[in-house]
Amino acid sequence: MRDVIGQRALLERLGARAVRGDVAQAYGLFGARGLGKRTVALRLAQTMNCASGTAGGCGTCLSCRKVERGTHPDVRLITRATERKDITIEQIREMQVDLALRPLEGTRRVVIVDDASELNQHGQDALLKTLEEPPVHAVLLLVTTTPAALHETIRSRLQPLEFRLVATQEIADGLATRGVKDAALWAAASAGRPGLAVSLAGGDAQRQERERLDAELLRLVSSGLSDRFAWALDLNDLPDDLDHGRRRTAEIRRRLDAWSELLRDATVAARGDLVRPSRPDRESETRTLAASASADDWLEVSLLVQRFQRDLDFSANARMMLELFALKLPYSAAVKPS
Ligand SMILES: [Zn+2]
Repeated sequence: MRDVIGQRALLERLGARAVRGDVAQAYGLFGARGLGKRTVALRLAQTMNCASGTAGGCGTCLSCRKVERGTHPDVRLITRATERKDITIEQIREMQVDLALRPLEGTRRVVIVDDASELNQHGQDALLKTLEEPPVHAVLLLVTTTPAALHETIRSRLQPLEFRLVATQEIADGLATRGVKDAALWAAASAGRPGLAVSLAGGDAQRQERERLDAELLRLVSSGLSDRFAWALDLNDLPDDLDHGRRRTAEIRRRLDAWSELLRDATVAARGDLVRPSRPDRESETRTLAASASADDWLEVSLLVQRFQRDLDFSANARMMLELFALKLPYSAAVKPS
């Protein structure tokens, strides 16, 4: 499919069927971030509506362009608003009213929910009703990095599409055909995720942001307790109401997401079996970290970060979480922030 690197076997099968109109009523697009799940969801929507009947959509007909721009009346993308902590039940109800109507331009109405794990309890209950009795013209695409967060009753009604990590060479080839310089370098740094490779190669801003967060962690690791607590306090003091777009939560989440990979690599390296690092570009730093504390210590802080990632939206006590992290993060004098 156009603009998708990897997942070839899956997409060939899926694309060929979709062109013939052979589609399930509900799919679950599962896999890590940066594997192209949302892109594939859009390509499927285009395939079902494309004037030329091309697998993945031709990309140039009016219908394909409308899907791409988000203006196709039969294709709806539901995402969490940045100032909200989940996808609201109102978003689901509005979609359901719409979905009950016949398609306006094509033969199907397509709903993409990304990330479906951001549906709260009420949202999942409401969506389940649609999955139990979908209108004949409906196709639902539930995209998520964490299918385990979906109720079993929902998951059992989805045809699963599992997205896998992509071979470095395949990513490098994909980048090269897009005219990216240093394709092999970015492919290696992305650890199997084409989406990450594309954004690293394309965006200085994203790359700098990542380097800034990496440096922050490395600085923390080599800081004493009082500096660490000052760091926790600074983060905790950020405003966190809806008017401020829940800034504190967003800032903490960016750090947890960026750092979980480095901490995971340090844990595995401390155990002595770092074969496929999540962050090959930081392998020398994570090995240095690993050497400065036991595997158990790194595991403990990795699990702590995982728990914070899960609880952050529900936990009022960010300060306690941050201070616990400051306390549990192993100390290493050897690692120098770049
Ligand atoms: Zn088209």
